[in-house]
Parts: sequence; structure tokens; C-alpha cells
Amino acid sequence: MRILVISDIHSNLAALEAVLADAPAYDQIWSLGDIVGYAAQPNECIELLASHAHVYIAGNHDWGVLGNIDLDDFNPDARKAALWAREQLTPAARMYLEQAPETIVEGEVTLAHGSPRSPVWEYIMRANTAQQNLTHFQTSLCLVGHTHLPAIFWQPAEGMPCVALRPQEGQPFSYAEGRSIVNPGSVGQPRDYDPRAAYALLDSDARTIEHRRVAYDIRAAQRKMRAAGLPQHIVIRLQYGQ
Ligand code: ZN
Repeated sequence: MRILVISDIHSNLAALEAVLADAPAYDQIWSLGDIVGYAAQPNECIELLASHAHVYIAGNHDWGVLGNIDLDDFNPDARKAALWAREQLTPAARMYLEQAPETIVEGEVTLAHGSPRSPVWEYIMRANTAQQNLTHFQTSLCLVGHTHLPAIFWQPAEGMPCVALRPQEGQPFSYAEGRSIVNPGSVGQPRDYDPRAAYALLDSDARTIEHRRVAYDIRAAQRKMRAAGLPQHIVIRLQYGQ
């Protein structure tokens, strides 16, 4: 089966549309949380995802918009954007977000927004954090988002240290050996200084995952955000990919 792996869409419909148009044929979508927050089209993003065969889990921004968690843990701009999105959510979109589990296991793959140890919150930025998380899931592969940074952490064999590998655009990584934690990067707000939308394509038969990027109409997303009165800083950062 071929799976389109996406994360951190953050209400950026232009970026989500570009990813769906760019992705080669796939059977299903796996969305790793933070569908909403930051940008201006939360309902549209949920409606578009819901029109595809997909599974999804909750992110911290999804919970922030729902009011399930204290927004004091968010920076001021993220808090403003979450409060704005809370006002916009349709009842159907709210119900969709409320139904999101914290983690799921699909075949031999675990899905968690932040980490398997602390699904909604923990950031896996380094190999030692990835290593500590290996005991918190049972499958050979775990997919995470949350950092908005494409990443591969790989333990070649049991007892060996976890290493960070640099994801190479268009070059599939084989997760057949050892255990791995992979982050596809962010669709709607990349932070690796590459403003293009990031995603990944998983082939569960070949046991590979390939990082991919696609340019999208950033100005269109920014126009929607300005019209909504969202904070200037989170509008501008899209064009710098940070
Ligand atoms: Zn996020």
C-alpha cells in the first residue's frame, strides 16, 4: 500500500492542495496532527481531508483550538491564531477534531504527533530523544510531526545507538532494517528555511519512505491570513520557511 504522509497543515489550504496535486498515486492519507492553527482556512482543510480516505491523530494546536488545553502554553501569536480559529470552526469541523485519537497503530507503523512517549507535546529534534522514545512504541517505524522539520532517526539494530540521517528529497529511505522514527516535515508552515510544503510517501510493501517538497501559492495563503487579521509574524514567516 502507498500512503501519503502529511503533518502540520495548520489551516493552510493552498499548501494542502499543492501536496494533494503533487503526490503520486496513493491509497490512503495519514495525517499526523495540527490540521488547524496559524493560517486562515481551518474548515476548508478539514473538509478537503475528510473527502479523502485517511486516518488522523490530534496535535497540540488542534487541542488548543478546541479548548482542551491551556493556551498559556502557546506563544502570543499562536494563541491569537488558535482563538481566531476557535471562532471559525463549524460544528462538523469541531466534531472531526474532537474525534482525533492521540496515537494510532496502522500495521507496523505507529503514528504520534510529537512523540510516542508524550504524543501531543514532546519534540523529537535529536537522536538521543529519538533513542529514549524507542521503548515507547512496539512497531518498527514511528511517524511523528510537531517540529515542522523533515527528519529520520534510525537505530540499525537492537542495542545500537540511534542516529540522525539527513532526509534527501526524492530518495526513499528503507525502514526494513532496525527501527526508525521519521518526520515528513510540515505541509502548511515549514521551518527548515525551505518555504515549499513538505510531505512524505510511504510504501508499506517496499518498506520505504520518501521525503518530497512542492512549491505552493504562498501569497494566496498570506492574503487569506491578512484578510482574517491574523498576526503579521505568522503571515511573513511562510515566505521564509521558518
Ligand atoms: Zn505544528
